[in-house]
Amino acid sequence: MIPFSYSLAASEQDAVTRISNGTARYIAGGTNLVDLMRQDIERVEAVVDVSRLAATVEETSDGGLIVGAAVRNTALAADPRVRTRYPMLSRALLAGASAQIRNMATVGGNILQRTRCSYFYDVRGSRCNKRTPGTGCDAIGGFTRYHAILGASDRCIATHPSDMCVALAALNAIVHLEGAAGKRCVPLTDLHLLPGDTPHIETALLPGELITGVEIPACPAAANSTYRKVRDRSSYAFALVSVAAALRVVDGKIADARIALGGVAPKPWRASRAEAALHGGTPTHDTFLKAADLELADAKPLEGNAFKIALARSTIVAVLGGLAGDAT
Ligand code: SF4
Repeated sequence: MIPFSYSLAASEQDAVTRISNGTARYIAGGTNLVDLMRQDIERVEAVVDVSRLAATVEETSDGGLIVGAAVRNTALAADPRVRTRYPMLSRALLAGASAQIRNMATVGGNILQRTRCSYFYDVRGSRCNKRTPGTGCDAIGGFTRYHAILGASDRCIATHPSDMCVALAALNAIVHLEGAAGKRCVPLTDLHLLPGDTPHIETALLPGELITGVEIPACPAAANSTYRKVRDRSSYAFALVSVAAALRVVDGKIADARIALGGVAPKPWRASRAEAALHGGTPTHDTFLKAADLELADAKPLEGNAFKIALARSTIVAVLGGLAGDAT
């Protein structure tokens, strides 16, 4: 870790003003950034503390919520409005990390956490296009159990590690930003980028832009929703496969279905094909199976992670089956 300066932002505008060059970073809980700085992956000369800024959860006029970027993961998971209106989000938050980390980690930081690809962290021993563009990727041909089967490229096959973002993707969440050019909003599903030829460019954020909050629209289907995370051990582990899903059944037909996948792609993976296949159908095992197969048809597994196709398929079907039982 190199020496760095610290300053506390008094407001969002103040924070944006203080981020004056490419070697400064916003910090709140620091649960990922400090690790990256210790490993010399992030060589940061200045941190601007935004942990005292927006830390409330407010109602929106359309019945949704706007969550301040500095709200801690534990607080959001425990919010009664989240637990009743968006149980998938509460469960996703509680599936992430450890209790101690959730107490520190914030919503904004959770969105911007970086991959846990072990080659990415192996600064001295492994080549990594994300860490050092153009050098190669030692994960390809290496140990790929935790890597992507959807949306990867021949430059990078890393997965996005967040559980919370999988639920937010399914909920059509909108990320609120503030930067030197003013405020803007971006759908969460557009914020994280697929690697393509430039895996080091991970988000659509402009230089110096600050996440100020996340808006979660009203979603009647989400009252009947859940999050299931399949992993190698029961806590403090990243997903092999995770599924955030909501299902609303009216008169025996699927009126609304929301599905997003984690652990399988470089970004939270909205399962739009599966959703379209479900809409208007009857909530049966066969319907769920067909939808899952449609979503996974383009999967490109490697030798070490081919099991994820069957695992994702069975998890989608099991989660939808459980929600259908609850919905009828
Ligand atoms: Fe780096 Fe991506 Fe390859 Fe991992 S998969 S080593 S993050 S380029």
